[in-house]
Amino acid sequence: MTPTREVYFNIKHIWVMYVLFAASLAIFARGWYGHWRRWRMGQPTERTGPLGARLGRALRQVFSQQTLLKRYRAAGIFHALFFWGFVVLFLATTVVFLHEDLGIHIMQGWFYLVFQSLVVDLFGAFAILGIVMAFGHRYLFKAKRLKPDTRDDATILAVILAILATGFVIEGLRIELTHDAWAAWSPVGRAVGAALAGGLSMEAMRGLHRAVWWFHAVVVFGFIAWMPYSKLRHLMTSPANIYLQNLGTRGALQPLDLEKAERLGVSRLEQFTWKDLFDLDSCTECGRCEVNCPAHLSGKPLSPKALILDLQKYMHGMSIDADRAAVDADSPSPMVGPIIHEETLWSCTTCRACMEQCPVMIEQVPKIVDMRRHLVMERAEFPDDLQAMVRSLEARAHPYPGAQASRTDWMAGLKLADLAATPDAEFEVLLWVGCAGALNKRNQDVTRAIAQVLTRAGVKFAVLGREEKCTGDPARRIGYEFLFQQLAQQNIQTLDRFKVKTVVAACPHCFHCLKNEYPQLGGNYTVLHHSEFLAKLVAEGRLKPDGGAQQGPVTYHDPCYLGRYNGVYDAPRNLLGDGQGAPPAEAEMSRANALCCGGGGGFSFMEEKSGTRMNQNRAKQLLATGAETIGVACPFCMVMLEDGVKSVAGEKAPRVLDVAEVLEQRTRG
Ligand code: SF4
Ligand code: SF4
Repeated sequence: MTPTREVYFNIKHIWVMYVLFAASLAIFARGWYGHWRRWRMGQPTERTGPLGARLGRALRQVFSQQTLLKRYRAAGIFHALFFWGFVVLFLATTVVFLHEDLGIHIMQGWFYLVFQSLVVDLFGAFAILGIVMAFGHRYLFKAKRLKPDTRDDATILAVILAILATGFVIEGLRIELTHDAWAAWSPVGRAVGAALAGGLSMEAMRGLHRAVWWFHAVVVFGFIAWMPYSKLRHLMTSPANIYLQNLGTRGALQPLDLEKAERLGVSRLEQFTWKDLFDLDSCTECGRCEVNCPAHLSGKPLSPKALILDLQKYMHGMSIDADRAAVDADSPSPMVGPIIHEETLWSCTTCRACMEQCPVMIEQVPKIVDMRRHLVMERAEFPDDLQAMVRSLEARAHPYPGAQASRTDWMAGLKLADLAATPDAEFEVLLWVGCAGALNKRNQDVTRAIAQVLTRAGVKFAVLGREEKCTGDPARRIGYEFLFQQLAQQNIQTLDRFKVKTVVAACPHCFHCLKNEYPQLGGNYTVLHHSEFLAKLVAEGRLKPDGGAQQGPVTYHDPCYLGRYNGVYDAPRNLLGDGQGAPPAEAEMSRANALCCGGGGGFSFMEEKSGTRMNQNRAKQLLATGAETIGVACPFCMVMLEDGVKSVAGEKAPRVLDVAEVLEQRTRG
């Protein structure tokens, strides 16, 4: 006898099922059509090709569940359990359709026993386990990041559990009623059937089987119909959003064509791209972005999750045609202000932790910067501190209001090739000092240390001296694209005039800008961060550091623009030494998960006016390692963390040293 089973055993009037299915599909399609019309309001952007590269990457990320498993492992495991359960159940349903409705008889023999019975049975059980764990995580252990809890959340879990549990009841009763010879291949179904059969007659089991079968069918069709109208829509939009992820340069903001742009920045929903609008419908509400956001953790009025969900709610509330009409009228900004408050936008450090954590690749930072662009360039409404910074950039090409020092003060006593003074000097690499490295007193020491170790290694390097201007990074992050492009173009002209090929940047913000954003304006150079270049010199034997005994136990703080933005994690760590050969102690939240010091996105030039101090929150994590030296690799982190550790630990505060300063001490010989 060939192993198989009757698909519609004990079920009459099967046409009713087809009618219900068709109705659920019609409601499903109607819901998606509404979403599609909303996404179409957005501006064009290219996110669909190349098909092969996108598909390969998306399939790998979706099926491995890697973005969910990399942090919050327990939650990742239960999501993987029901994800995989659902994939297998979907495939099994497809097999039934092919077998029964299209007459392709594959549901038999070994395939029936191994896949359609055993695998489906086990994965169905895994899915139930995943759902039970999800209930426990949400309602027993009350995971903070899943708040606020909505009625939708509990209903979705209950509906999925009902579908899975009734599936096993139907299978178990069928096994009992047909005395299935292949029951051993469905261990869970058989156990459920045996448990139910105890007190029931055959007739009662038959009636129960039929009733549960129809209940199961109605719940499944209801689930399908409900999908586009609830958070369940992410079952389809999340994988699609992963397919549509940005394959361009990581962290580079999109430039504005200032000559052709009809408006500057985004003040209305339909001014976002269609991909931005698609992002809003892809959110799973998992809260990973929120619990890693330094602004949210320090009580600022910003949650990257709430930002996305507020925009989503606003988009869903739109009657498209009516709102288009309203938009064409002269409402100045129905979104920035009333829906997304200005303080929310000015609370972001652009640290990218939200985007790093988001399992479905939602892009918060570009949306925030787009809305800032509107505030800065169209409304000229931005915080006073930032206005002072902008005035300074415009007047003196550096962001330090009132700074009296000159860009070359730090060079006193050092014999360096300053291209501004000696334009014909020969050099292999250009040391890009950065405004903080040249003008901030504490960071002048760091710049001197970098110059000293480069000299010690015999590197032929030059600096631009007073020819160097701010890269424009602070202007770009606060949304002043016009000023950014102006400064960038001036710097590109200077770099090209001196025929610069390789740049070593002493600041991760300059590094990111020069490496990833200047090519948008025609500036193409090999750009390295000083930690990368110094680690290379050590690896080549041009610098021979000792153990670093004077540093004692060390830890390291990852700057956002070096780590998360550019993936440089190991080079700075390799420069630190504790005298014992041990690697730096890792703080709670490090590498890609590092908590921002609070110095990016313009915050180095702004007072924190609400909540706790971001630098103190990070300092506490670093102090908890017990390190005597805290290594940094960014001038803004230096200022923020020196202040942070002193205000938390007082007199007993450990030293904060740039990795170049540590290396300088370790190579004095
Ligand atoms: S970039 Fe950083 S500060 Fe801004 S919303 Fe994301 S996590 Fe929060
Ligand atoms: S934006 Fe991403 S990380 Fe944040 S709640 Fe939504 S899905 Fe989760």
